[in-house]
Amino acid sequence: MIEMGPWGRNMAVRTKLVAGNWKMNGLREDGTALVRTLAQRMTAAGGGLGCELLVCPPATLLTAVGDLLAGSGIALGGQDCHAAAKGPFTGDISPEMLADAGCTHVILGHSERRHGHGEGDAAVREKILGAWRAGLTAILCVGETRAQREAGTATDIVAAQLAGSIPDGAAAGGLVIAYEPVWAIGTGLTATSEDVTAMHAAIRTRVERGMRILYGGSVNPQNAAAILGLAEVDGALVGGASLDAEGFWTIAQCCG
Ligand code: PEP
Repeated sequence: MIEMGPWGRNMAVRTKLVAGNWKMNGLREDGTALVRTLAQRMTAAGGGLGCELLVCPPATLLTAVGDLLAGSGIALGGQDCHAAAKGPFTGDISPEMLADAGCTHVILGHSERRHGHGEGDAAVREKILGAWRAGLTAILCVGETRAQREAGTATDIVAAQLAGSIPDGAAAGGLVIAYEPVWAIGTGLTATSEDVTAMHAAIRTRVERGMRILYGGSVNPQNAAAILGLAEVDGALVGGASLDAEGFWTIAQCCG
């Protein structure tokens, strides 16, 4: 019998997921052009891509991008959210608002939130609970800094982030882990295949069997095949390279 997760995914198969994190990039013209191309490619591929695709545009473009993605099979996600459903939190966006805009996923605990906005594991944990309340799948980002890697504490750091951020009852349908070494994000540097495999295997011992573990950190069309070809890697979280439709599509095709 096929084991279905609470979010309706077949938990026996870890289908790869390629997620584009646009960060604070994209105005209506370039954002919609990008996603139009992706939707056309996806439709032409007719389900033969071999992975799931997700785009996470800035909040201002969620509705426009969501409209263009309708029926394409490409999912829509937010880049962050507040833990609460609503309230006096100026500038924040709630999980329910993301769901209302058509999102199925939300990136949480990205290092640019942890380091740029002082978000700790406890806050990330609350946000994951909020995401689940709204029916969203959370993509939890974890990863060590350069200094931590050089000090030999990378695995301990990531283990502590997992322990502090993942609420009880985490199921593979509601949570995806993204291992993103901080020093690899936006730098053009990537972790070695050995280090990625070792870290993903270490993460795997701490999460549910069917949970997907993505790699993130300067994934691009040139290195994607090697990274996505690793048995322990269930997909990629792509920043800069997701802003180019051809490049992002090339990365996705490496899952095949
Ligand atoms: C990211 O923002 O999650 C990321 C991995 O960025 P980049 O691909 O640009 O390193």
